Amino acid sequence: MAPLTAWLGPRLRPGGYEALGPGSERDLCWDDGEWLDILDTALAGDMEDVVADLADALRRASLRTYHGTRTADAGVFFRKGLKVHDRGAMTRRVHDLVASHESLAALRGDRLSKAIAEIDNTTDDGRLYVVADDAFFLDHAAHYLIYGSEWTMAVLGDVGRRFLRAHGTPTLLEIDLPLSMAHPGTLHAFAQALLQEWTRMTCNRPDWSAPIDFTFCLQVDIPALCIVGHTHPTDLRDPHARGATYRSNATTCALCAISSEPLDPGWRRASTVPNDEGPRDAALPLPIGQAAPATKPP
Ligand SMILES: [Zn+2]
Repeated sequence: MAPLTAWLGPRLRPGGYEALGPGSERDLCWDDGEWLDILDTALAGDMEDVVADLADALRRASLRTYHGTRTADAGVFFRKGLKVHDRGAMTRRVHDLVASHESLAALRGDRLSKAIAEIDNTTDDGRLYVVADDAFFLDHAAHYLIYGSEWTMAVLGDVGRRFLRAHGTPTLLEIDLPLSMAHPGTLHAFAQALLQEWTRMTCNRPDWSAPIDFTFCLQVDIPALCIVGHTHPTDLRDPHARGATYRSNATTCALCAISSEPLDPGWRRASTVPNDEGPRDAALPLPIGQAAPATKPP
């Protein structure tokens, strides 16, 4: 709040801050676009110019973001970064999984190719998603940690779900995302969201922050140096099981095993240092997950 208040100060008209009526509560939902109309009454200039200026300023900032996946070794990301969804590579990986695991034998022959052909959604191909709010993401989209990639889960079907739940560890990656990597349109929308929340906080002075329900869709890989941490949440709501709690017995990965840092008992947080001396990729060709946009709360 304070940095944004300082940034906005010169952009408010004389008496603009007081005109917002700080502390006088408005009966508006946290995500109501009318918050920006209220802010507009306090600005010295044009709202669109302010949003554009803030989006431009954000391009020079980094934001802690998160990506959900299921992996046997989070070290892969610290060595190689986070890649965009490569449908060709994913297809080869799924074929390797089916060929090398007897529990997936039912998908051998032409059944796997048919299953792949039936899923013609290419929305994620060439894209990569990270989210701004880890708590909101875990509440609404934990299936990325439980199963990994939605596409892989869809291709492998029910048999595959059991397989995916039995391999690797639910993992939440922490990423310091240079916002210069984000699409200008995304930054514009993010700037609007920040200004909206600033106005709500200023007017209503609530004792809670709105969920930062914001997803960054990237079309480039995130470099390894941006991956700054990883955790292994254990109690997850499975949206593919009517929200039932999924309790993971897997609480560590290959990277945890070589980490000298103690693990937090709640989140199994492991501080990690990227280097080229970590473990090789696990025999199971994971990571297999790509997080996708979280949904808005009711
Ligand atoms: Zn780990």
